[in-house]
Amino acid sequence: MAVMQYQPISSSKRRKGLTNPVWTANAAPAPQAEGLVGVHDVDVLIIGGGIAGATTALHLAERNIDVALIEAGQFGDGATGQSGGIIAPDYIRHTPETIRDVLGADAGERLTDMIGRSGAHVFDLVRRHEIECDMRQDGFYTPAHTEALAEQQRAMAQQWQARGHKVSFVEGAQTRALFGTDRYCGALRFEDGGGLNPLAFVRGVARVAQRHGARLFAGSPVRQLERKDGRWFCYTPSGTMRAQRLVLAANGGNAALHPAMRRTSLPLNVFQFASMPLDPSQRQVILPRGGAFTDKMPYLFTARLDGLGHLVSAFPMSFAVNGEKAYYREAKRRLKQYFPTMPEPQIDYLWHGLAWVNTSFLPEIYDLGDEAIAIQACNGRGLATNTVIGSQVAEMLATGDAGALSVTPRPPVPVRFHAGAALLPRLLMSLAYLTN
Ligand SMILES: Cc1cc2nc3c(=O)[nH]c(=O)nc-3n(C[C@H](O)[C@H](O)[C@H](O)COP(=O)(O)OP(=O)(O)OC[C@H]3O[C@@H](n4cnc5c(N)ncnc54)[C@H](O)[C@@H]3O)c2cc1C
Repeated sequence: MAVMQYQPISSSKRRKGLTNPVWTANAAPAPQAEGLVGVHDVDVLIIGGGIAGATTALHLAERNIDVALIEAGQFGDGATGQSGGIIAPDYIRHTPETIRDVLGADAGERLTDMIGRSGAHVFDLVRRHEIECDMRQDGFYTPAHTEALAEQQRAMAQQWQARGHKVSFVEGAQTRALFGTDRYCGALRFEDGGGLNPLAFVRGVARVAQRHGARLFAGSPVRQLERKDGRWFCYTPSGTMRAQRLVLAANGGNAALHPAMRRTSLPLNVFQFASMPLDPSQRQVILPRGGAFTDKMPYLFTARLDGLGHLVSAFPMSFAVNGEKAYYREAKRRLKQYFPTMPEPQIDYLWHGLAWVNTSFLPEIYDLGDEAIAIQACNGRGLATNTVIGSQVAEMLATGDAGALSVTPRPPVPVRFHAGAALLPRLLMSLAYLTN
């Protein structure tokens, strides 16, 4: 069975006037990896060297499973290296109680447990393998911009606590002191969250995977997959990998790799930026105790500091903000809007990122049959989730026990009216911008 051709992901092309992610400033280089040349055989082939693929490779290699990881560009080139690096062990849309209605009690509780533990999982992994990635386990916050949301969050904190997670509600005055902005009336605090340099993280995970025996190939876009004689044949411009089992971890690229994956997720374009390093007086006011936050506003706001003192934030792409100068203006406007102690913010880095969201806003593992699965769990919030999913997929492949997974695999379902739906995120963000 031949499948459609690989199309390069548009986000990997740098837009005029934009920079590389701030993470390139102090991330260790990507691990040495050749392009795929000639014909090779492997037990498990993983396509996509973001955090989902890299962690799957690491945990398989640790179990002495013969594994190869093939990446189109360099490890971390996709959403992982473009991200804000926030480790957020929280649902995007759900709560521990509402997810039970959606998935049922058992599956809901399994997923809540996975999400709630995902922050600790990431930081433990970093510590265990001594990956240098500027990690700071100093808390993730979901701030409330209305009293009504604050009231709901007090109840949510109890839901998480009842399940043994370190989550609390921080009242308004304390939130203002913790963030240095007066725009919120409280926040949910996830003690095990925080931030890291996501490019250094994924490169580090890939390096450790390689050290444990995983075969890494970079600069090798998979152009075609074929199922033949009970094996997967994976073709790149100069090589072929034959595999018994297949894991698609190419995020938006999954759609081009297998026909069943077409039209299963929607693109979400985001501009991520980093200010000039804050001066000491600003450091005393803005996030003085560290931490990272992402609010629930339709035109969402997010902030964290990195180890070099940059304030890292983002804004979603809309039709209302267009062109290089407008992007920089918008970045400055956002910082001034939230942090009055930054009257004239300077932007050192501004880059474009492409996230892929499922209509459920939940992580998905798709069962493609023929010993193939796809991880589709970006949702613009997948750093921690995909790290755990990688470890669970590896355990499932190593032991044959599907119970290792907190996400129940299912066949992919295309989004209805996909061409129109793909425009929705940008349209909604344009409306959100206008009401901001
Ligand atoms: C701007 C932005 C900010 C974000 N901020 C955060 C945040 O702060 N916190 C958070 O938790 N999440 C955040 N996210 C989401 C997070 O980055 C993703 O959920 C996560 O990194 C997805 O990991 P992944 O491995 O599934 O995909 P990716 O990192 O996208 O990796 C997929 C890889 O597959 C490769 N590939 C694609 N097609 C092929 C092919 N045919 N052959 C070979 N290789 C291929 C790509 O080059 C890419 O490297 C953000 C995303 C964006 C875009």
